[in-house]
Amino acid sequence: MSGLELRNIVKNFGAVEVIRDVSLAVNDGEFVAFVGPSGCGKSTLLRLIAGLDKPTGGSIAIDGKDVTGITAADRGLAMVFQSYALYPHMSVRENLAFGLENTKVAKAEIEARIADAARMLEIEPFLQRRPGQLSGGQRQRVAIGRAIVRRPDAFLLDEPLSNLDAELRVTMRAELAALHARLKATMIYVTHDQVEAMTLADRIVVLRGGRIEQVGTPLELYNKPANRFVAGFIGAPH
Ligand code: ADP
Ligand code: MG
Repeated sequence: MSGLELRNIVKNFGAVEVIRDVSLAVNDGEFVAFVGPSGCGKSTLLRLIAGLDKPTGGSIAIDGKDVTGITAADRGLAMVFQSYALYPHMSVRENLAFGLENTKVAKAEIEARIADAARMLEIEPFLQRRPGQLSGGQRQRVAIGRAIVRRPDAFLLDEPLSNLDAELRVTMRAELAALHARLKATMIYVTHDQVEAMTLADRIVVLRGGRIEQVGTPLELYNKPANRFVAGFIGAPH
C-alpha cells in the first residue's frame, strides 16, 4: 500500500493513557483533518506520526514500510507548528534554507526551491527580513515555506492558523487549499475549528479522549454523525 498507516497506536504519559488504540489509514495525497476538543490528543498523535515522540504501543507505516523506529528527519515529513518555530536571529531566507544546507540537496537547487516557495507564498519582499519584523500572517507563510522547500511526501500541520485574526484565517484557508491542489502532497491538519476542517479536508477524524469517535468525509459526518458528540462538534443537526 502507499500512504500512511497507524496500527493500534497507544501513547501513555506516566500512568495517563493519552492515545488509546488509534488505527487509521491515510491515502497518498489525501487532506485529513484531526478535530476534537482541547486535550483530546491531536498534537500528541501528530508528533507520533512525525517521529518527534515514540508510541507506547502499536506501529506506524509509511508507503508500506514500518517507520516506528525511524527518526523524524528520515520519514519524509515536514511539520508546521502553531507557534511558527522560526529562528529569530536568522533572515527569512536563512530560515527557509536551514535544514537543507547540510543535506545532499545542491546549492542551486536550494536557491530554486526558495525562489519557488517565496513566489508561491508571496513572501519574496521579506526574504532579507527577520521573523520579528513580520506580521503573524507573514510568519505563518514562512513556516509553511520552510516545510515546502523540503519537498516532503506529507505535511503535518498543528493548528497553523490559530494565532491569526479571523479575516486572515479565511484568506490562509483558501491558500492552503490552493497549495494542496498544487503540491498534491498528503496533508494531516490538526484544528479545533470545525469550519476549517469541513472546508479543507477530504476526510475528518473526530477524536475524543484519545480515541477516534468517527472518520468520514465532511458530508458523511454532517449527514450521519455516529453520535451526539460528533454531531455537536461538526455542527450537524442532532
Ligand atoms: P490537543 O492537541 O488535542 O489539545 P494534546 O495532544 O496536546 O491535546 O494533549 C493530550 C493530553 O496529553 C493532554 O491531557 C495533555 O495534558 C497530555 N500531554 C501532552 N503532552 C504531554 C507530555 N509531554 N507529558 C505529559 N502529558 C502530556
Ligand atoms: Mg494541540
